[in-house]
Amino acid sequence: MSTVRVRVAPSPTGAPHVGTAYIALFNLAFARRHGGQFLLRIEDTDQTRSLKAHEDRLISALRWLGLDWDEGPDVGGDCGPYRQSERLDIYRRHADQLLATGHAYHSFATAAELASWRAEGQAAGVPAPFAVERDGDPAAGRARAATGEPYVVRMKMPLEGTCVIEDMLRDAPISIDYAGLDDQVLLKSDGFPTYHLAVVVDDHLMGITHVIRGEEWINSTPKHMLLYDWLGWDAPKHAHLPLLLNPDRSKLSKRRNPTSIDYYRRAGYLPVALLNYLALMAYPPAAGADGAEQEKEPFDDFVGRFDLARISLGGSVFDVEKLNWLNGRYLREDLTPQQLLQALRDWALNDDFLAQIMPLMQPRMETLGDLMPKCVFFFSRNVEAKLEDLLPKGRQAEDVAAMLQTVVWSLETVVPWQRDAIEVAVKRTGEFWDWPIRDITRPLYTAIMGQPVGPPLYESIVLLDVDLTRMRLLAAIEVLGGVSKKKAKKLEKDWAS
Ligand code: GLU
Repeated sequence: MSTVRVRVAPSPTGAPHVGTAYIALFNLAFARRHGGQFLLRIEDTDQTRSLKAHEDRLISALRWLGLDWDEGPDVGGDCGPYRQSERLDIYRRHADQLLATGHAYHSFATAAELASWRAEGQAAGVPAPFAVERDGDPAAGRARAATGEPYVVRMKMPLEGTCVIEDMLRDAPISIDYAGLDDQVLLKSDGFPTYHLAVVVDDHLMGITHVIRGEEWINSTPKHMLLYDWLGWDAPKHAHLPLLLNPDRSKLSKRRNPTSIDYYRRAGYLPVALLNYLALMAYPPAAGADGAEQEKEPFDDFVGRFDLARISLGGSVFDVEKLNWLNGRYLREDLTPQQLLQALRDWALNDDFLAQIMPLMQPRMETLGDLMPKCVFFFSRNVEAKLEDLLPKGRQAEDVAAMLQTVVWSLETVVPWQRDAIEVAVKRTGEFWDWPIRDITRPLYTAIMGQPVGPPLYESIVLLDVDLTRMRLLAAIEVLGGVSKKKAKKLEKDWAS
Protein backbone atom coordinates (compact mmCIF):
# COMPACT_ATOMS: atom_id res chain seq x y z
CA MET A 1 0.00 0.00 0.00
CA SER A 2 1.68 3.17 -1.08
CA THR A 3 -0.90 5.69 0.02
CA VAL A 4 -0.63 7.36 3.40
CA ARG A 5 -2.48 5.48 6.14
CA VAL A 6 -2.51 6.81 9.67
CA ARG A 7 -4.49 6.03 12.79
CA VAL A 8 -5.45 7.14 16.22
CA ALA A 9 -5.50 4.30 18.71
CA PRO A 10 -7.07 5.31 22.01
CA SER A 11 -7.65 3.03 24.96
CA PRO A 12 -11.22 3.31 26.23
CA THR A 13 -10.28 3.45 29.90
CA GLY A 14 -11.80 6.79 30.87
CA ALA A 15 -13.48 9.95 29.68
CA PRO A 16 -12.67 10.95 26.09
CA HIS A 17 -9.49 12.95 26.52
CA VAL A 18 -8.60 16.17 24.68
CA GLY A 19 -5.18 14.59 24.13
CA THR A 20 -6.85 11.95 21.96
CA ALA A 21 -8.54 14.66 19.92
CA TYR A 22 -5.22 16.45 19.57
CA ILE A 23 -3.45 13.34 18.24
CA ALA A 24 -6.41 12.48 16.00
CA LEU A 25 -6.42 16.02 14.62
CA PHE A 26 -2.81 15.87 13.44
CA ASN A 27 -3.26 12.40 11.99
CA LEU A 28 -6.36 13.48 10.12
CA ALA A 29 -4.65 16.64 8.84
CA PHE A 30 -1.75 14.54 7.57
CA ALA A 31 -4.06 12.02 5.89
CA ARG A 32 -6.13 14.75 4.23
CA ARG A 33 -3.08 16.64 3.07
CA HIS A 34 -1.70 13.53 1.37
CA GLY A 35 -4.95 12.09 0.11
CA GLY A 36 -4.60 9.16 2.48
CA GLN A 37 -6.76 7.36 5.01
CA PHE A 38 -7.33 7.89 8.69
CA LEU A 39 -8.30 4.95 10.92
CA LEU A 40 -9.73 4.63 14.38
CA ARG A 41 -8.54 1.61 16.32
CA ILE A 42 -9.78 0.84 19.81
CA GLU A 43 -6.97 -0.48 22.00
CA ASP A 44 -8.94 -2.28 24.66
CA THR A 45 -6.37 -4.82 25.76
CA ASP A 46 -6.55 -3.81 29.40
CA GLN A 47 -9.52 -5.94 30.33
CA THR A 48 -10.02 -4.47 33.76
CA ARG A 49 -10.01 -0.81 32.73
CA SER A 50 -11.53 -0.87 29.25
CA LEU A 51 -15.27 -0.34 29.05
CA LYS A 52 -17.68 -0.25 26.13
CA ALA A 53 -19.31 2.79 27.74
CA HIS A 54 -15.99 4.65 27.48
CA GLU A 55 -15.64 3.58 23.86
CA ASP A 56 -19.13 4.83 23.03
CA ARG A 57 -18.43 8.20 24.59
CA LEU A 58 -15.12 8.44 22.79
CA ILE A 59 -16.64 7.76 19.40
CA SER A 60 -19.41 10.24 20.03
CA ALA A 61 -16.93 12.91 21.20
CA LEU A 62 -14.63 12.50 18.19
CA ARG A 63 -17.62 12.62 15.87
CA TRP A 64 -18.85 15.78 17.55
CA LEU A 65 -15.50 17.34 16.76
CA GLY A 66 -15.78 16.22 13.15
CA LEU A 67 -12.62 14.12 13.30
CA ASP A 68 -14.11 11.49 11.02
CA TRP A 69 -12.31 8.27 10.17
CA ASP A 70 -12.35 6.18 7.00
CA GLU A 71 -12.11 2.86 8.81
CA GLY A 72 -12.99 1.97 12.37
CA PRO A 73 -15.02 -0.29 14.63
CA ASP A 74 -18.29 1.48 13.84
CA VAL A 75 -17.79 1.94 10.08
CA GLY A 76 -15.79 -1.19 9.25
CA GLY A 77 -13.09 -1.45 6.59
CA ASP A 78 -10.87 -4.03 4.93
CA CYS A 79 -8.45 -4.45 7.83
CA GLY A 80 -10.85 -5.13 10.69
CA PRO A 81 -11.77 -5.91 13.30
CA TYR A 82 -10.70 -2.50 14.60
CA ARG A 83 -11.17 -3.38 18.24
CA GLN A 84 -8.17 -5.19 19.68
CA SER A 85 -10.21 -7.41 21.98
CA GLU A 86 -11.62 -9.00 18.81
CA ARG A 87 -8.19 -9.84 17.40
CA LEU A 88 -6.81 -12.10 20.12
CA ASP A 89 -6.10 -15.05 17.82
CA ILE A 90 -4.05 -12.78 15.56
CA TYR A 91 -1.82 -11.69 18.45
CA ARG A 92 -1.43 -15.22 19.71
CA ARG A 93 -0.32 -16.36 16.27
CA HIS A 94 2.38 -13.73 16.22
CA ALA A 95 3.46 -14.47 19.77
CA ASP A 96 3.81 -18.11 18.72
CA GLN A 97 5.94 -17.06 15.81
CA LEU A 98 8.24 -15.09 18.11
CA LEU A 99 8.45 -18.08 20.46
CA ALA A 100 9.31 -20.35 17.55
CA THR A 101 12.06 -18.06 16.31
CA GLY A 102 13.58 -17.77 19.79
CA HIS A 103 12.85 -14.06 20.23
CA ALA A 104 10.39 -14.67 23.02
CA TYR A 105 9.96 -17.15 25.86
CA HIS A 106 7.36 -18.49 28.24
CA SER A 107 7.66 -17.04 31.69
CA PHE A 108 6.05 -18.66 34.72
CA ALA A 109 7.63 -16.51 37.37
CA THR A 110 5.40 -15.05 40.04
CA ALA A 111 5.68 -11.38 40.98
CA ALA A 112 7.50 -12.41 44.17
CA GLU A 113 10.02 -14.49 42.25
CA LEU A 114 10.67 -11.66 39.86
CA ALA A 115 11.23 -9.25 42.72
CA SER A 116 13.68 -11.56 44.41
CA TRP A 117 15.55 -12.22 41.16
CA ARG A 118 15.67 -8.51 40.59
CA ALA A 119 17.17 -7.95 44.02
CA GLU A 120 19.73 -10.73 43.48
CA GLY A 121 20.55 -9.35 40.06
CA GLN A 122 21.06 -5.90 41.44
CA ALA A 123 23.42 -7.21 44.08
CA ALA A 124 25.37 -9.06 41.39
CA GLY A 125 25.32 -6.04 39.12
CA VAL A 126 23.19 -7.80 36.49
CA PRO A 127 20.23 -5.65 35.47
CA ALA A 128 17.74 -8.14 34.08
CA PRO A 129 15.95 -10.39 36.55
CA PHE A 130 14.86 -12.59 33.69
CA ALA A 131 18.02 -14.57 33.03
CA VAL A 132 16.69 -17.53 35.03
CA GLU A 133 13.95 -18.16 32.49
CA ARG A 134 15.02 -16.61 29.23
CA ASP A 135 17.95 -18.92 28.76
CA GLY A 136 15.99 -22.04 29.69
CA ASP A 137 15.00 -24.82 27.28
CA PRO A 138 12.19 -23.56 25.00
CA ALA A 139 10.76 -27.07 24.68
CA ALA A 140 10.45 -27.32 28.46
CA GLY A 141 8.67 -23.95 28.50
CA ARG A 142 6.24 -25.14 25.84
CA ALA A 143 5.57 -28.35 27.72
CA ARG A 144 4.90 -26.52 30.96
CA ALA A 145 2.56 -24.10 29.23
CA ALA A 146 0.71 -27.04 27.70
CA THR A 147 -0.12 -28.36 31.17
CA GLY A 148 -2.27 -25.29 31.77
CA GLU A 149 0.04 -23.55 34.17
CA PRO A 150 -0.42 -19.77 33.85
CA TYR A 151 2.32 -17.99 31.95
CA VAL A 152 3.16 -14.82 30.08
CA VAL A 153 5.21 -14.50 26.92
CA ARG A 154 8.13 -12.11 27.20
CA MET A 155 10.36 -10.68 24.52
CA LYS A 156 14.06 -11.40 24.77
CA MET A 157 15.48 -7.91 24.86
CA PRO A 158 19.07 -7.51 23.69
CA LEU A 159 21.37 -7.13 26.69
CA GLU A 160 23.48 -4.52 24.95
CA GLY A 161 23.41 -2.22 21.98
CA THR A 162 21.43 0.85 21.11
CA CYS A 163 18.20 1.41 19.25
CA VAL A 164 18.32 4.37 16.90
CA ILE A 165 14.94 5.88 16.12
CA GLU A 166 14.42 8.20 13.19
CA ASP A 167 11.64 10.60 14.09
CA MET A 168 10.13 12.75 11.38
CA LEU A 169 9.86 15.73 13.73
CA ARG A 170 13.43 15.64 15.00
CA ASP A 171 16.60 16.43 13.09
CA ALA A 172 18.80 14.09 15.10
CA PRO A 173 17.93 10.41 15.57
CA ILE A 174 16.94 9.37 19.08
CA SER A 175 19.22 6.75 20.65
CA ILE A 176 18.00 4.49 23.42
CA ASP A 177 20.14 1.77 24.99
CA TYR A 178 18.58 -1.67 25.26
CA ALA A 179 20.40 -2.38 28.48
CA GLY A 180 17.92 -0.54 30.69
CA LEU A 181 14.85 -2.20 29.21
CA ASP A 182 13.09 -5.12 30.86
CA ASP A 183 12.02 -8.22 28.97
CA GLN A 184 8.68 -6.83 27.97
CA VAL A 185 5.57 -8.98 28.38
CA LEU A 186 3.92 -9.51 24.99
CA LEU A 187 1.11 -11.85 25.89
CA LYS A 188 -0.50 -11.72 29.33
CA SER A 189 -1.72 -14.67 31.33
CA ASP A 190 -5.32 -13.78 30.46
CA GLY A 191 -4.48 -14.39 26.80
CA PHE A 192 -4.63 -10.70 25.94
CA PRO A 193 -1.66 -9.05 24.28
CA THR A 194 0.05 -6.06 25.82
CA TYR A 195 -0.02 -2.76 24.00
CA HIS A 196 3.45 -3.38 22.55
CA LEU A 197 2.63 -6.57 20.70
CA ALA A 198 -0.81 -5.42 19.62
CA VAL A 199 0.30 -2.03 18.34
CA VAL A 200 3.03 -3.47 16.14
CA VAL A 201 0.94 -6.31 14.75
CA ASP A 202 -2.00 -4.02 14.03
CA ASP A 203 -0.04 -1.15 12.57
CA HIS A 204 1.54 -3.62 10.19
CA LEU A 205 -1.60 -5.57 9.27
CA MET A 206 -3.61 -2.38 8.89
CA GLY A 207 -1.04 -0.96 6.51
CA ILE A 208 -0.17 2.04 8.67
CA THR A 209 2.53 4.08 6.94
CA HIS A 210 3.10 6.75 9.59
CA VAL A 211 2.72 6.38 13.33
CA ILE A 212 1.91 9.85 14.62
CA ARG A 213 1.45 9.69 18.38
CA GLY A 214 2.37 11.37 21.65
CA GLU A 215 5.90 11.81 22.89
CA GLU A 216 5.20 9.59 25.89
CA TRP A 217 5.60 6.58 23.59
CA ILE A 218 9.17 7.32 22.48
CA ASN A 219 10.64 5.06 25.14
CA SER A 220 8.48 2.19 23.94
CA THR A 221 9.60 2.55 20.36
CA PRO A 222 12.78 0.41 20.69
CA LYS A 223 10.59 -2.53 21.67
CA HIS A 224 8.40 -1.91 18.66
CA MET A 225 11.40 -1.63 16.33
CA LEU A 226 12.67 -5.00 17.52
CA LEU A 227 9.31 -6.60 16.95
CA TYR A 228 9.09 -5.26 13.40
CA ASP A 229 12.51 -6.64 12.77
CA TRP A 230 11.85 -10.04 14.32
CA LEU A 231 8.58 -10.42 12.45
CA GLY A 232 10.34 -9.54 9.21
CA TRP A 233 8.38 -6.35 8.58
CA ASP A 234 9.34 -2.83 7.54
CA ALA A 235 8.56 -0.38 10.31
CA PRO A 236 6.31 2.59 9.54
CA LYS A 237 7.73 6.09 9.89
CA HIS A 238 7.37 7.64 13.31
CA ALA A 239 6.49 11.12 14.49
CA HIS A 240 6.15 11.78 18.20
CA LEU A 241 4.10 14.86 18.99
CA PRO A 242 4.81 17.12 21.96
CA LEU A 243 2.51 16.65 24.95
CA LEU A 244 -0.23 18.96 26.14
CA LEU A 245 0.86 20.41 29.45
CA ASN A 246 -0.50 21.71 32.74
CA PRO A 247 0.56 25.26 33.67
CA ASP A 248 3.44 23.75 35.71
CA ARG A 249 4.55 21.95 32.51
CA SER A 250 3.69 18.48 33.77
CA LYS A 251 1.62 16.30 31.43
CA LEU A 252 -1.93 17.62 31.16
CA SER A 253 -4.00 16.02 33.88
CA LYS A 254 -7.57 16.28 34.95
CA ARG A 255 -6.62 17.38 38.43
CA ARG A 256 -6.02 20.89 37.15
CA ASN A 257 -7.84 21.32 33.88
CA PRO A 258 -10.92 19.83 32.37
CA THR A 259 -9.44 17.20 30.07
CA SER A 260 -12.58 15.50 28.86
CA ILE A 261 -13.82 16.44 25.39
CA ASP A 262 -17.31 16.05 26.81
CA TYR A 263 -16.63 18.81 29.30
CA TYR A 264 -16.06 21.24 26.47
CA ARG A 265 -19.06 19.96 24.61
CA ARG A 266 -21.34 20.23 27.61
CA ALA A 267 -19.97 23.62 28.69
CA GLY A 268 -20.87 25.07 25.31
CA TYR A 269 -17.69 25.26 23.28
CA LEU A 270 -17.80 25.04 19.50
CA PRO A 271 -16.02 22.10 17.86
CA VAL A 272 -14.39 24.44 15.35
CA ALA A 273 -12.82 26.47 18.16
CA LEU A 274 -11.61 23.48 20.13
CA LEU A 275 -10.00 21.96 17.02
CA ASN A 276 -8.42 25.28 16.15
CA TYR A 277 -7.04 25.60 19.65
CA LEU A 278 -5.65 22.05 19.67
CA ALA A 279 -3.90 22.66 16.34
CA LEU A 280 -2.21 25.73 17.81
CA MET A 281 -0.86 23.57 20.62
CA ALA A 282 1.79 22.19 18.30
CA TYR A 283 1.65 24.27 15.15
CA PRO A 284 2.58 27.88 14.43
CA PRO A 285 -0.35 30.13 13.58
CA ALA A 286 -0.90 31.23 10.00
CA ALA A 287 0.40 34.60 8.87
CA GLY A 288 -2.30 37.08 7.89
CA ALA A 289 -2.13 39.41 4.90
CA ASP A 290 -0.41 42.06 7.05
CA GLY A 291 2.09 39.53 8.35
CA ALA A 292 0.46 39.42 11.79
CA GLU A 293 -0.30 36.02 13.28
CA GLN A 294 -3.74 34.75 12.53
CA GLU A 295 -4.64 32.37 15.28
CA LYS A 296 -8.21 31.91 14.25
CA GLU A 297 -8.19 29.29 11.52
CA PRO A 298 -10.81 26.62 10.89
CA PHE A 299 -9.60 23.07 10.39
CA ASP A 300 -10.07 22.95 6.61
CA ASP A 301 -7.83 25.98 6.15
CA PHE A 302 -5.31 24.50 8.53
CA VAL A 303 -5.19 21.29 6.50
CA GLY A 304 -4.39 23.34 3.41
CA ARG A 305 -1.12 24.57 4.88
CA PHE A 306 -0.26 21.60 7.07
CA ASP A 307 3.26 20.26 6.91
CA LEU A 308 4.33 17.69 9.51
CA ALA A 309 7.86 19.08 9.51
CA ARG A 310 6.64 22.41 10.88
CA ILE A 311 5.28 20.97 14.10
CA SER A 312 6.90 22.71 17.01
CA LEU A 313 8.34 20.53 19.74
CA GLY A 314 8.54 21.42 23.39
CA GLY A 315 4.93 21.07 24.38
CA SER A 316 2.27 23.67 25.02
CA VAL A 317 0.42 24.64 28.13
CA PHE A 318 -3.28 24.03 27.72
CA ASP A 319 -4.79 27.37 28.58
CA VAL A 320 -8.55 27.39 28.98
CA GLU A 321 -8.60 31.21 29.02
CA LYS A 322 -7.12 31.30 25.57
CA LEU A 323 -9.55 28.69 24.34
CA ASN A 324 -12.37 30.84 25.74
CA TRP A 325 -11.06 33.81 23.80
CA LEU A 326 -10.90 31.83 20.58
CA ASN A 327 -14.32 30.30 21.12
CA GLY A 328 -15.74 33.75 21.73
CA ARG A 329 -14.34 34.95 18.45
CA TYR A 330 -16.00 32.14 16.51
CA LEU A 331 -19.27 32.77 18.31
CA ARG A 332 -19.24 36.49 17.63
CA GLU A 333 -17.58 36.67 14.23
CA ASP A 334 -18.63 33.58 12.33
CA LEU A 335 -22.24 32.97 13.23
CA THR A 336 -25.30 34.84 12.08
CA PRO A 337 -27.88 35.23 14.87
CA GLN A 338 -29.81 32.46 13.17
CA GLN A 339 -26.75 30.20 13.22
CA LEU A 340 -26.10 31.07 16.84
CA LEU A 341 -29.62 29.98 17.65
CA GLN A 342 -29.01 26.76 15.79
CA ALA A 343 -25.77 26.20 17.72
CA LEU A 344 -27.68 26.63 20.97
CA ARG A 345 -30.28 24.16 19.79
CA ASP A 346 -27.63 21.61 18.88
CA TRP A 347 -26.14 22.13 22.30
CA ALA A 348 -28.86 22.09 24.96
CA LEU A 349 -31.80 24.25 23.97
CA ASN A 350 -33.60 21.39 22.35
CA ASP A 351 -36.68 19.35 23.15
CA ASP A 352 -34.63 16.35 24.10
CA PHE A 353 -32.77 18.05 26.87
CA LEU A 354 -35.58 20.34 28.00
CA ALA A 355 -37.92 17.38 28.25
CA GLN A 356 -35.59 15.79 30.74
CA ILE A 357 -35.63 18.90 32.89
CA MET A 358 -39.42 19.31 32.96
CA PRO A 359 -40.19 16.62 35.55
CA LEU A 360 -37.62 18.18 37.88
CA MET A 361 -38.94 21.71 37.52
CA GLN A 362 -42.70 21.23 37.31
CA PRO A 363 -43.28 20.73 41.07
CA ARG A 364 -41.32 23.94 41.73
CA MET A 365 -43.19 26.33 39.44
CA GLU A 366 -46.12 28.67 39.92
CA THR A 367 -45.86 30.40 36.57
CA LEU A 368 -43.98 29.48 33.42
CA GLY A 369 -41.68 32.36 34.20
CA ASP A 370 -40.29 30.43 37.18
CA LEU A 371 -38.56 27.93 34.97
CA MET A 372 -35.45 29.71 33.80
CA PRO A 373 -34.20 31.19 37.09
CA LYS A 374 -34.56 27.83 38.78
CA CYS A 375 -32.76 25.78 36.18
CA VAL A 376 -30.15 28.21 34.94
CA PHE A 377 -27.40 26.03 36.39
CA PHE A 378 -28.07 23.40 33.72
CA PHE A 379 -27.11 25.89 31.06
CA SER A 380 -24.21 27.77 32.57
CA ARG A 381 -20.56 26.94 32.17
CA ASN A 382 -20.04 27.35 35.91
CA VAL A 383 -21.90 28.60 38.96
CA GLU A 384 -20.82 30.86 41.76
CA ALA A 385 -20.87 28.89 44.98
CA LYS A 386 -20.60 31.07 48.08
CA LEU A 387 -18.52 29.91 50.98
CA GLU A 388 -21.32 30.23 53.52
CA ASP A 389 -23.64 28.17 51.36
CA LEU A 390 -21.05 25.42 51.06
CA LEU A 391 -20.64 25.08 54.82
CA PRO A 392 -23.01 22.90 56.83
CA LYS A 393 -23.50 24.19 60.35
CA GLY A 394 -20.48 23.61 62.56
CA ARG A 395 -18.22 22.22 59.84
CA GLN A 396 -14.82 23.59 58.94
CA ALA A 397 -14.10 24.68 55.37
CA GLU A 398 -11.04 22.46 55.32
CA ASP A 399 -13.07 19.36 56.16
CA VAL A 400 -15.80 20.16 53.68
CA ALA A 401 -13.19 20.61 50.95
CA ALA A 402 -11.73 17.21 51.82
CA MET A 403 -15.19 15.68 51.84
CA LEU A 404 -15.95 17.07 48.38
CA GLN A 405 -12.65 15.69 47.16
CA THR A 406 -13.77 12.21 48.20
CA VAL A 407 -17.04 12.77 46.38
CA VAL A 408 -14.99 13.53 43.27
CA TRP A 409 -13.14 10.24 43.67
CA SER A 410 -16.26 8.31 44.48
CA LEU A 411 -18.02 9.65 41.39
CA GLU A 412 -15.06 8.62 39.23
CA THR A 413 -16.17 5.03 39.66
CA VAL A 414 -19.67 5.69 38.33
CA VAL A 415 -19.79 4.30 34.79
CA PRO A 416 -22.22 4.61 33.13
CA TRP A 417 -23.48 7.84 34.65
CA GLN A 418 -26.76 6.77 36.23
CA ARG A 419 -28.85 8.14 39.03
CA ASP A 420 -28.80 5.21 41.47
CA ALA A 421 -25.09 4.63 41.07
CA ILE A 422 -24.50 8.33 41.74
CA GLU A 423 -26.57 8.16 44.90
CA VAL A 424 -24.65 5.12 46.09
CA ALA A 425 -21.36 6.89 45.39
CA VAL A 426 -22.42 9.96 47.36
CA LYS A 427 -23.72 7.88 50.25
CA ARG A 428 -20.47 5.97 50.34
CA THR A 429 -18.78 9.28 51.04
CA GLY A 430 -21.23 9.95 53.84
CA GLU A 431 -20.32 6.64 55.46
CA PHE A 432 -16.63 7.32 55.06
CA TRP A 433 -16.94 10.62 56.91
CA ASP A 434 -19.64 9.40 59.24
CA TRP A 435 -21.53 12.63 58.65
CA PRO A 436 -25.29 12.94 58.42
CA ILE A 437 -26.27 12.93 54.76
CA ARG A 438 -27.48 16.55 54.84
CA ASP A 439 -23.93 17.65 55.67
CA ILE A 440 -22.90 15.99 52.43
CA THR A 441 -25.79 17.13 50.28
CA ARG A 442 -25.81 20.80 51.27
CA PRO A 443 -22.29 21.45 49.94
CA LEU A 444 -23.15 19.30 46.94
CA TYR A 445 -26.27 21.28 46.12
CA THR A 446 -24.31 24.51 46.40
CA ALA A 447 -21.41 23.24 44.32
CA ILE A 448 -23.69 21.94 41.59
CA MET A 449 -26.44 24.56 41.53
CA GLY A 450 -24.84 27.60 43.11
CA GLN A 451 -27.29 27.52 46.04
CA PRO A 452 -28.12 25.05 48.79
CA VAL A 453 -31.63 24.34 47.53
CA GLY A 454 -32.98 23.26 44.17
CA PRO A 455 -34.44 20.37 42.21
CA PRO A 456 -33.59 16.78 43.19
CA LEU A 457 -29.85 16.43 43.53
CA TYR A 458 -29.08 13.09 41.92
CA GLU A 459 -31.37 13.65 38.94
CA SER A 460 -29.74 17.02 38.42
CA ILE A 461 -26.26 15.52 38.58
CA VAL A 462 -27.26 13.01 35.92
CA LEU A 463 -28.40 15.76 33.57
CA LEU A 464 -25.43 17.98 34.26
CA ASP A 465 -23.30 15.04 33.19
CA VAL A 466 -20.08 13.76 34.61
CA ASP A 467 -17.57 16.36 33.47
CA LEU A 468 -19.46 19.50 34.36
CA THR A 469 -20.28 17.95 37.73
CA ARG A 470 -16.65 17.23 38.35
CA MET A 471 -15.52 20.74 37.44
CA ARG A 472 -18.14 22.28 39.71
CA LEU A 473 -17.00 20.14 42.60
CA LEU A 474 -13.38 21.12 41.96
CA ALA A 475 -14.37 24.79 41.79
CA ALA A 476 -16.23 24.50 45.11
CA ILE A 477 -13.19 22.85 46.69
CA GLU A 478 -11.18 25.91 45.66
CA VAL A 479 -13.76 28.26 47.19
CA LEU A 480 -13.34 26.29 50.43
CA GLY A 481 -9.60 26.88 50.33
CA GLY A 482 -8.54 23.76 48.44
CA VAL A 483 -6.99 20.52 49.64
CA SER A 484 -3.22 20.64 50.02
CA LYS A 485 -1.15 18.08 48.15
CA LYS A 486 0.01 16.49 51.37
CA LYS A 487 -3.47 16.21 52.75
CA ALA A 488 -4.83 14.87 49.47
CA LYS A 489 -2.23 12.13 49.52
CA LYS A 490 -3.13 10.94 52.97
CA LEU A 491 -6.81 11.26 52.23
CA GLU A 492 -6.51 9.25 49.06
CA LYS A 493 -4.86 6.47 50.98
CA ASP A 494 -7.57 6.40 53.64
CA TRP A 495 -10.21 6.58 50.98
CA ALA A 496 -8.74 3.75 48.96
CA SER A 497 -8.74 1.49 51.99
N1 GLU B 1 -3.32 2.99 23.02
C1 GLU B 1 -2.29 3.98 23.02
C2 GLU B 1 -2.86 5.23 23.69
O1 GLU B 1 -3.81 5.11 24.37
C3 GLU B 1 -1.84 4.26 21.61
C4 GLU B 1 -0.44 4.75 21.47
C5 GLU B 1 -0.03 4.73 20.01
O2 GLU B 1 -0.58 5.54 19.26
O3 GLU B 1 0.80 3.91 19.64
O4 GLU B 1 -2.38 6.32 23.60
